[in-house]
Amino acid sequence: MKQWQSFFIILSIFFGMLMPSFSFAKTTSPAADRYLPILMYHHITKRVPQNPYFVSPQIFDQQMAWLQQNKYQVISMDAAASALKNNTPLPEKSVVLTFDDGLRDQYENALPILKKYNDTATFYIITGSVGKKSYLTWDMIKKMHAAGMEIGAHTETHPNVAHLSGNKLTEEIAGSKKMLESELGIPVTSFAYPGGAYNDRAIAEVHAAGFTNAVSTRHRVMHSTTENPLALGRMHIDDDMISFALFVTGKKLN
Ligand SMILES: [Zn+2]
Repeated sequence: MKQWQSFFIILSIFFGMLMPSFSFAKTTSPAADRYLPILMYHHITKRVPQNPYFVSPQIFDQQMAWLQQNKYQVISMDAAASALKNNTPLPEKSVVLTFDDGLRDQYENALPILKKYNDTATFYIITGSVGKKSYLTWDMIKKMHAAGMEIGAHTETHPNVAHLSGNKLTEEIAGSKKMLESELGIPVTSFAYPGGAYNDRAIAEVHAAGFTNAVSTRHRVMHSTTENPLALGRMHIDDDMISFALFVTGKKLN
């Protein structure tokens, strides 16, 4: 009887060890899927009452410090997209920082913090808003590029491109790329859909314009080689450290 008892104990330990690995095997993604947080920011400035599109410079600084302390490697959208597309290795613990709308506070408040931590980021510019009140000027955009930032396009006037077709769609997508390239003298390969909205026609237009990658606001952190590089998901970042750390480490997915 004693032998049977120890057999059962051994058996239960054995299954106890197996069970978690069975459930782990089920939730582990295929090798082609890679966890790559593409973080989305808008304003970097203090705003009271708090608004989800505003992150304070203090919290943004803490977020960048956290990435450095935890040995994350900040890479550009262009570099991330080409690694995903070609299935080449991403640096370990890669993360991408993106900023939408070409807002002036990004130059005033985000750029000094990015420089402090030696990070790069991708800034999506609405070309028709450049130089307007609270938007970046061409001179600021040039300085950001000179400081190692990637410049991407975010259309001319920020329309819902899923509602456009024909010349108007081409003008918004290809036109914003041409304008950035002629003003800055650099190739522009990254695009962001205004409001995150897109459809097959918009994707085809982004492809025809020569962009290699495009982001939406669709919440997604696992990226595979089969995911369309012209419709990559991102993670909205709040003015908060706890949700930031949970998102980046993959402990919280929505
Ligand atoms: Zn936008």
